[in-house]
Amino acid sequence: MRVFKFGGASVKNAAALRNVASILSSQKDPLLVVVSAMGKTTNTLELIASASEKQTLSREINILRSYHHEIIDLLFDKADGVQPTLEKLFNQIQVEANKKGDYDQKYDQVVSLGEVISSVILSNFLTQEGIENEWIDARHYIFTDNTFREGKVDWDKTQRQIQQLLPILNNKIIITQGFIGATENNLTTTLGREGSDFTAAIFGACLDAESVTIWKDVPGVMNADPKRLSAAIVFEELPFQEAAEMTYYGASVIHPKTIKPLANRDIPLFVKSFADPSADGTKIHDCKIDHLPPLIVFKENQCLISCKVTDYTFIDEHHLGIIFHALSEKNIKVNVMQTSAISFSFCVDFREDKITSLVKMLGEKFEVFYNTGLTLITVKNYDQKTFDEYRLRHEVVLEQSSRSTLQVLIKR
Ligand code: ASP
Ligand code: MG
Repeated sequence: MRVFKFGGASVKNAAALRNVASILSSQKDPLLVVVSAMGKTTNTLELIASASEKQTLSREINILRSYHHEIIDLLFDKADGVQPTLEKLFNQIQVEANKKGDYDQKYDQVVSLGEVISSVILSNFLTQEGIENEWIDARHYIFTDNTFREGKVDWDKTQRQIQQLLPILNNKIIITQGFIGATENNLTTTLGREGSDFTAAIFGACLDAESVTIWKDVPGVMNADPKRLSAAIVFEELPFQEAAEMTYYGASVIHPKTIKPLANRDIPLFVKSFADPSADGTKIHDCKIDHLPPLIVFKENQCLISCKVTDYTFIDEHHLGIIFHALSEKNIKVNVMQTSAISFSFCVDFREDKITSLVKMLGEKFEVFYNTGLTLITVKNYDQKTFDEYRLRHEVVLEQSSRSTLQVLIKR
């Protein structure tokens, strides 16, 4: 059996959904399909979850409702079948968004519904088109702890549950949601933004799939973002390790958590273009490639934090211990770090709430400075040309290189 994942762009309008149906109709093998929320739905749901005024809330819900209605009006000969379910889901968004209490928990109850809506629409549409399928609720199969917005998977329980799906796969395509899971107490959790790829890997690993395919709006994995570098090339194949490192440095083509479960079980991952389904795309698997071209990754929205000792001592392991302890407590990942005699600097993804509380905590021991709006550029397997080109950029605020990798943090 195989697993397919369709992201937000591949289900963003009626034409895109017809294309998904056409890709699925040509498949012969057992298939489980993971789908993201349509288009930019998750962003709108984030606004809804954080709306403090009733007016904003109603306005944004109405925007989402009309967006989805427009799509179903174009897709269905008779929308009566899907309409009542969708209406219930939109009401549920409203009810959950109005609840008080822990913000991250509420966020997950609201934001997860985008995937539920898109999967209901896709499943009903496939049925109308004569493609036999069964809709399942991913929250009955993927179990996490209660770290809302970043649920950690309980692999044993998840695997046991997912294997129950095998008999269904013999005669039907399964349609389910990316990005979402549930706690022991049946509260919805999400796996982190863009986490639908990870969902596909979870199902793929637990079902011991032949392969997992991520359908995207790019022709495959490229050595740079084609929007930034027109000469970017598509890899035919890539070792798991290389793909994992790319995502670590911020390449958004696949979610960073996707590789590990597949690599551990040696399940190949394909990245293919939904606009050109017959093209090969990229195969990520256990292979060795000599002389990979330079790989350039941009990571926006970075924040550089510097902690300076205030008592004329030097930065030592005790200071580093305090800093790393704070980072671990706040669950913040460091992208680059550098130490000097009296200060320690590190670059992290900027998320205002987290950074504010980290800076406050570190401020008790150090003089803390921070800079936001930075971009981290990583050039892996650099050559002389790319090394010079990226090092000599204006406004480099931090730079670091090893024998294979150059990283520069720039202001712009
Ligand atoms: N819909 C979610 C997001 O936009 C998950 C995903 O698309 O992978 O973050
Ligand atoms: Mg996405």
